[in-house]
Amino acid sequence: MTITFQDLGLSSSLMESISKMGFEEPSPIQAQTIPLALQKKDVIGQAQTGTGKTAAFGIPLIEKIDVKNNSIQAVVVAPTRELAIQVSEELYKIGYHKRSRVLSIYGGQDINRQIRSLKKNPHIIVGTPGRLLDHINRKTIRLNNVHTMVLDEADEMLNMGFIEDIESILSNVPDERQTLLFSATMPDPIRRIAEKFMTEPELVKVKAKEMTVPNITQYYLEAQERKKFDILTRLLDIQSPELAIVFGRTKRRVDELSEALTLRGYTAEGIHGDLTQAKRMSTLRKFKEGTIEVLVATDVAARGLDISGVTHVYNFDVPQDPESYVHRIGRTGRAGKTGMAMTFVTPRELDIVKNIERTTKRKMERMKPPTLDEAIESQQQMTVEKMRSIIENDNLSFYKRTAEELLEEFDAQVVVAAAIKYMTKEPNSVEVKLTEEAPLYSKSKNKGRSSSNNRRKGDFNRRDGQKNRSSYGSRDRNKSGQGNKQRRYSNSK
Ligand code: ADP
Ligand code: MG
Repeated sequence: MTITFQDLGLSSSLMESISKMGFEEPSPIQAQTIPLALQKKDVIGQAQTGTGKTAAFGIPLIEKIDVKNNSIQAVVVAPTRELAIQVSEELYKIGYHKRSRVLSIYGGQDINRQIRSLKKNPHIIVGTPGRLLDHINRKTIRLNNVHTMVLDEADEMLNMGFIEDIESILSNVPDERQTLLFSATMPDPIRRIAEKFMTEPELVKVKAKEMTVPNITQYYLEAQERKKFDILTRLLDIQSPELAIVFGRTKRRVDELSEALTLRGYTAEGIHGDLTQAKRMSTLRKFKEGTIEVLVATDVAARGLDISGVTHVYNFDVPQDPESYVHRIGRTGRAGKTGMAMTFVTPRELDIVKNIERTTKRKMERMKPPTLDEAIESQQQMTVEKMRSIIENDNLSFYKRTAEELLEEFDAQVVVAAAIKYMTKEPNSVEVKLTEEAPLYSKSKNKGRSSSNNRRKGDFNRRDGQKNRSSYGSRDRNKSGQGNKQRRYSNSK
C-alpha cells in the first residue's frame, strides 16, 4: 500500500544516497510529487514546513541531471541565504553518489568569488532571487540549458517582495522546461505565477497534519504580558529542553529577549533579518551544534529552516496568524521526532487560540503557568536525582569521614537539607527589561487589519520608549545571588 523508494524506480546511485541519508520511505509529498516530476510534468506542491519538500523536488531533479554535460541544468530559487544553503546541502547529499555538482549563490557573498565558483561548471544552482538575477544580467549565469526550475517557499518569496525578480528569472529560462513550485500557502500572486509560467501543472496538496503536527504536544498558557518572561524562564528550568526556540514578534523583541535570557544565565542568541549574514549563520551553526541552547527568532528568520533536534518551541508572543503558528511549531517534531509547543497568550488574545485550533483541527491544551515554588521544587528534584546517582555509583569513601563529623555536630535531616540547598540552583531572578508588545487582536475582531502583511509592518509594536518598559523578575527570593552561579540549565547532555 505505502509507496517505497524502490517503487519509484530511482537509479542505484540515488538509492544509495537516500539510504545513507537514513530515509526509510518517502513522505506523503514525496510519494506524490516524485512520480509526476519524473514524468517531466510541472508540479505545484503545497505542504507545510518539515514535510520533506526538498527531496520531493531534489530527487527527480537530480535524476534528470546529465553529469557529463557541463552546463547549468537546474535552478532552485529560495527566499533566503540560509534556505539556499540548506537546500544545496540536501541536494549535495542526494547527488553525492551520482557526483552532481551544486552551487549556492546569494547576496552578501563576494560576487567575484561566486563567479570563480561558477567557472567550475555546477549542474545545479540554488540561489536567492536578487543575486541570481544579478548573475543573469552579468551573463555569469547562462540559463539556455536549464531543463528544471524550482521555486521553493514561493509564498515566502512573495512576502519578501521578490515576485518581480522571480518573473524576470523565469522569463530568462527556455520555455521547454519543467517547473516545480512549492509553497505552504497559495495566495493569488503565486497562483498567477503558476498560470503564467507553468504548463498544465499538477497540484499536489498535503495537509499540514500529515507530518508536522501529530508529533507535537501543543499547549497554551494564559499570562499577563508583564509576567511572561518569568514564566518562560521557569518553564525552561522545569522542562529543561535540549534545544529550544523562542519566538518573538519583532526584531526588537528578539534582541531584548536574547539579552534578557543571557542575563539570567541561559546561553541564548537571537536571529532576525537585521543581522548580518555572517552573524545569522554563526548563530545557527552554534545552535545546531548545541553550543546555544535557546535560539530566539522572528518568524521570517526561522521560516523553513531545518533545524533538527528542537525539542521545545516557545511562542513568547502569539503568532500573527494560524499559518505562522504551523510554521513555528514545525521547527520541532521533525522527521518523526516528538516535540512540545508552548504558546503564551495574554487574556485579550485568547480568541487567537480558538482560531489556531480551527485551522490545525487540533486542540491546544491549557497549561497552568508554573509558580516560583514549582520552579524551585523542580530544581530540588534535579538535585535529589543527582544525589541518587552519586549514591548509586558509591565512590564516597573520601567524603565519609567529614560526613560523620558533621553528623556528630548536627541532625541528619539538617545536614542533608543544607547539602540540597547548596546544590540547588534557585531560580535566577535578575531583573530584566523588555519593551511591552501591544496585544494582538484576532482577525475576527479587527476586520480592517486583516492582511497579515500590513500588520507585520507595525500597526502594533510601534509604541516606543520608556512608557512601556516594564520590569520582569526581582521577586527576590534569591537576593544573595549564591544560587545563581551554577545554572542547572547547562550542558549536561
Ligand atoms: P520542508 O522543505 O518541507 O520544510 P525539508 O525538505 O527541509 O522539509 O525536510 C525536513 C527534514 O526531514 C530534513 O531534515 C530532511 O532531511 C528530512 N526528510 C525529508 N524526507 C524524509 C524522509 N522521506 N524520511 C526521513 N526524513 C526525511
Ligand atoms: Mg523547504
